[in-house]
Amino acid sequence: METANLRGIFPNAPALGLSATVNEKVFRDVTKILNWDPVIVALPPDRPNIFLDVVTKRNYHISEDLKWVVDGLVDQGSCFPKTLIFAQTKGTVNDIHTYLKKALGRKAYKDMTPDPDNRLISKYHGKVSEGLQTWTLENILNPESALRVLVTTVAFGMGVNVPDIRMVVQWGKCANMLTFWQQMGRAGRDGLFSTAIWYPKSTMGDDKDLFEEIKAKTTCVRKLILNHFILPEQEKSVLDFLERREPCQLMCDSDTCACARCKCCAVCKNQCDCNA
Ligand SMILES: [Zn+2]
Ligand SMILES: [Zn+2]
Ligand SMILES: [Zn+2]
Repeated sequence: METANLRGIFPNAPALGLSATVNEKVFRDVTKILNWDPVIVALPPDRPNIFLDVVTKRNYHISEDLKWVVDGLVDQGSCFPKTLIFAQTKGTVNDIHTYLKKALGRKAYKDMTPDPDNRLISKYHGKVSEGLQTWTLENILNPESALRVLVTTVAFGMGVNVPDIRMVVQWGKCANMLTFWQQMGRAGRDGLFSTAIWYPKSTMGDDKDLFEEIKAKTTCVRKLILNHFILPEQEKSVLDFLERREPCQLMCDSDTCACARCKCCAVCKNQCDCNA
């Protein structure tokens, strides 16, 4: 508001506004409040090193769908890739955390030694004790820590930059696309290949139609998401690069194909002959 007043006094003073992810609604609100008609310089907020997976099925069960987390922790212990599991409510965070803890038993601790500092899993939301919140924040930031899997609400995140998160799991609905993309984008801040997986139990909110489209898995997930962040004054052609990506020519000699489509999303991966 005060910026709008200042700009009234100094109409010719240059001003610059910056954002990592902004959609049309937020852009309109901000420019209206600031009484501003800016020149837009923007790129779609892509995160090319994150593979976008969507798991669609009829029914979702924590103990069935997240069993791979338990299996991974049993196999790899403190070498399991650092993983964030986001859920919408504190209750669901507790449910997932309780499931993991029960299924793992002593294996919920590094070297099966049940000392609090050896915890491989933790949870975070507004109602967990201050002591656990502090421990979790310190340990998720520490590359040497035993902590591998953090189950959390949206409460975790603001201002915390953890570079080496290899997997983000989004369990169930998310309030809107901006939050969804920010949460998925917590994976691979160090630029290394990472995965973000959505289990779309249900959808909600202003962007419900978009979430439903992603859930249908007929169009590239990345394209649908990035399209949401194209501002009206921007050329839609900034997303053409997604169409130009070459599929694998069946020349790859490893078990896992590394072509641009196989690294993109669940939908594109399906279109690669390697993975047919
Ligand atoms: Zn794709
Ligand atoms: Zn291939
Ligand atoms: Zn491929």
